[in-house]
Amino acid sequence: MTIKARDSHAFSFYPNLKPYTFNRGPGNRRFDGYLLSREYLADLAALGHEAVTEGRALFLDNGLLDDGRKIGRDAVLDDATQAADVLTRWLRATEAEERLPLAATEVLGPEDLWSALQLERGLELDEGALERLDAQASWARAWNDRLGARVQVFVPVHVATYAQAYDAGRVLGRHGVAVALPLTRALQSRRWTESITTDEVTTWTKVVPAAYLEATVVLLGVMSGYRETAGRAPRLHALGLGTPIMLPIVAAAACATGSVITTDSMAPINDAMTEPTTSLYVETPAPLKYKAFKIAQAWIEKGMPWGCPCPFCDAIEARYPSNPVRAREKWLAGGAKPLSKDDLLSAGPYSEDFPLLSWSRNATQHAAVGIARTNHNLWVLQRVEQHIRQLAMVEGSLRAWVDGLVTRHGQAADPSWGRAAQLAWDAVQRWLDRG
Ligand SMILES: [Zn+2]
Repeated sequence: MTIKARDSHAFSFYPNLKPYTFNRGPGNRRFDGYLLSREYLADLAALGHEAVTEGRALFLDNGLLDDGRKIGRDAVLDDATQAADVLTRWLRATEAEERLPLAATEVLGPEDLWSALQLERGLELDEGALERLDAQASWARAWNDRLGARVQVFVPVHVATYAQAYDAGRVLGRHGVAVALPLTRALQSRRWTESITTDEVTTWTKVVPAAYLEATVVLLGVMSGYRETAGRAPRLHALGLGTPIMLPIVAAAACATGSVITTDSMAPINDAMTEPTTSLYVETPAPLKYKAFKIAQAWIEKGMPWGCPCPFCDAIEARYPSNPVRAREKWLAGGAKPLSKDDLLSAGPYSEDFPLLSWSRNATQHAAVGIARTNHNLWVLQRVEQHIRQLAMVEGSLRAWVDGLVTRHGQAADPSWGRAAQLAWDAVQRWLDRG
């Protein structure tokens, strides 16, 4: 097998490896890398092999946290020793499984399961957390040496605050290992906040959702700590980061320090086909998610068609055309009420009027549309990715572009979330200015 050198882009988004995210039709560029969960390794081994043969990265998720959650639910995972047992069993299984290092180019390595579960339960990290991280990093380095240069082992770091992230970054920097930062928990935070703490505290007067800010502080903390002990920026993978506006914000922070950053997220697929509230991504006026029922509402009420120029929306519209006239008649007859997500589900009144936006009662159509919406969302993220890469090469231009995006995002998004993105970006800028 010939391995081509991968392009060293400053930023890449990895979708989950699926037949429909890999083979997206003629003329559609593939991604630099794909994420593969360990549970799909057997089913998708051939596709993974094809990706790697083409010189793409294949990032193997260890699935360890899922195992830990199951054990924590079924029995009681209530101390660090039990968590370490789970980890040890996983490592033995993994190292015995020869296909694993052969299939992947990047592997999510040894993980401090105990810290991860403590944070999920809303608890503090215990005093042993840094010591365990140090052990995981040593293990990862030894494992990486055995696997050779073709595979890179990432050390997952579970932290919730800037101070924790900074300390963890220092430990990882001493080992010089690649860092995986899980951001799913932070991005799903339901907390609201009126301050952000990095190495300074910034407060404001009106609370905003904390999710973007929680993700931003741990990213900045890890990068600062790492740079201090390693003398260079880390190779960083942000796990579970697919929020369209957060990609440029995070990339601008990482690229300015010389870090190579990759991210992955299941969200473009979930938003397109599994969440009851379907969301479609847009690049203009700013990277955003639009709820499908709101798109349908604007189409019915104001005659504003979706009209996306991407090949995936185009193909669905040609195969299953929208019928806004019929939808509007129905809407007027029903008292012109605002639409809700249920109106576009398979039992809803507009299910067959906007095939691209709804859940069809026809299984073939439903599957085809779900895949098309996924690929639409990925098409948008790919355009954002392209802009980041181009601008990262010209000093100062990425930052200026992101600044404009965040302003436009603030005008178009839900006001609280728009404000939260602005505050996260402000924190990144202050961090960059401090050098
Ligand atoms: Zn589209």
